[in-house]
Amino acid sequence: MKYDVIIIGAGPGGIFAAYELMQKNANLKVAVFEAGHPLDKRHCPIDGEKVKGCVSCKSCSIMSGFGGAGAFSDGKYNITNDFGGTLFEYIGKKQALELMHYVDEINLQYGGEGTKLYTTAGSRFKTLCIQNDLHLLDASVRHLGTDKNYVVLENLYNELKEKVDFYFDTPVQTVKRLESGYAVVCGDGEYTCEQCVISVGRIGSKWMEQVCEELNIPTKSNRVDIGVRVELPAAVFAHLTDELYESKIVYRTEKYGDRVRTFCMNPKGAVVTENTNGIITVNGHSYEDPALQTENTNFALLVAKHFTAPFEDSNGYGESIARLSNMLGGGVIVQRFGDLIRGRRSTQNRIEEAFITPTLQATPGDLSLVLPKRILDGIIEMIYALDKVAPGTANDDTLLYGVEVKFYNMEVEVNEQLESCYPGLYIIGDGSGITHSLSHASASGVHVARSITQ
Ligand SMILES: Cc1cc2nc3c(=O)[nH]c(=O)nc-3n(C[C@H](O)[C@H](O)[C@H](O)COP(=O)(O)OP(=O)(O)OC[C@H]3O[C@@H](n4cnc5c(N)ncnc54)[C@H](O)[C@@H]3O)c2cc1C
Repeated sequence: MKYDVIIIGAGPGGIFAAYELMQKNANLKVAVFEAGHPLDKRHCPIDGEKVKGCVSCKSCSIMSGFGGAGAFSDGKYNITNDFGGTLFEYIGKKQALELMHYVDEINLQYGGEGTKLYTTAGSRFKTLCIQNDLHLLDASVRHLGTDKNYVVLENLYNELKEKVDFYFDTPVQTVKRLESGYAVVCGDGEYTCEQCVISVGRIGSKWMEQVCEELNIPTKSNRVDIGVRVELPAAVFAHLTDELYESKIVYRTEKYGDRVRTFCMNPKGAVVTENTNGIITVNGHSYEDPALQTENTNFALLVAKHFTAPFEDSNGYGESIARLSNMLGGGVIVQRFGDLIRGRRSTQNRIEEAFITPTLQATPGDLSLVLPKRILDGIIEMIYALDKVAPGTANDDTLLYGVEVKFYNMEVEVNEQLESCYPGLYIIGDGSGITHSLSHASASGVHVARSITQ
């Protein structure tokens, strides 16, 4: 089968590339190959009752399938160049923001209308934060919520399926260069195309490394973010989350001068597990529908580590820490902040006696046996710093789930069209190491589609 364009991966990057290709030239023959299931077949078996922990499905429905890692995410589309990726370094700040706004318009058009756009502009919390040596980053954030995000994806799929060939449960094994174009090799044979867009996300990081090695595409190591997910009563952060929804706050520790930051804030949300290539880590999300909301807010506290020579495997370092927590806890570990600072493990009894009900059933344990001292010290310092702008953050019952690791793919060398050293072979989204968010990944898809059709 021969296509004009083959897209590998149906996450936000791949979907928006397909969408924009169809907008610009509906005559193009386009196929999308996706390792995971169609949206309606994606289902994580964890129900908190019969299945309490990750059972390592062959294809993780949280990370894979139509919608990619974004499908059951909180659907927070941050419109900013301050975080979420470095797309602006390739295409310029103005264009990156324009594309993120364009993605926002499409999301509204396909089911997201009526959702709120929050902004930090003019917020009094900026002053409150700076007075306490905390730094609130600028952003506008559209919160679709896990439920509306799903509707948008469903509508986009219904629109695209008429025009684009989707191959689900079809992992691409390798990409070969041909005299003209590329061959995409799958279990059932080869498909050829003139242009190929690779958008395999974080779950495709190992595969992406393999392709870069085989094709000799230059890469460089990226950072890894390591930390915990904090869960506390929603009331503690309500004054911030009601106005801003998500606040990205950065703190520089006194002890080491390391930067610790809040990440992925989910007001009235739930903590979830995530399986990346067999490693269980923690994440969070929340629903737009009040009926599905919880009484807790969760967010990550992360410290970035970037290794250079002689050890360059930042992801390997993060993986080892996550494996340690999986070894000790059989998955994710949960600890009360009070237990952590008293140097004792949390037990089931201590968790049950707390004035907060965990939204994830994790193994009570001791995070100080897992996280390196420098990282843990930074997290503890930040919790006390946050306690000044959101009193109650440092309460004994605040829950810390570990570990949360944000793996970044190694950065693939691409030009301003996001094209690799081979003409017609584009690498976009989180799989390129350039984006780390829904809005940046989606914007990279639009950008590449416009490059192809210009
Ligand atoms: C629980 C959770 C919550 C999140 N919440 C937010 C949020 O609120 N806001 C935000 O900005 N970001 C959030 N993120 C991150 C966000 O989902 C990602 O940044 C975004 O999905 C990246 O898009 P992508 O298209 O680059 O990759 P992905 O969404 O990861 O999609 C890549 C797709 O490629 C497929 N694939 C991989 N390898 C192959 C192969 N060899 N052959 C075929 N297919 C392949 C995968 O199955 C996957 O479906 C969250 C992530 C998770 C897991």
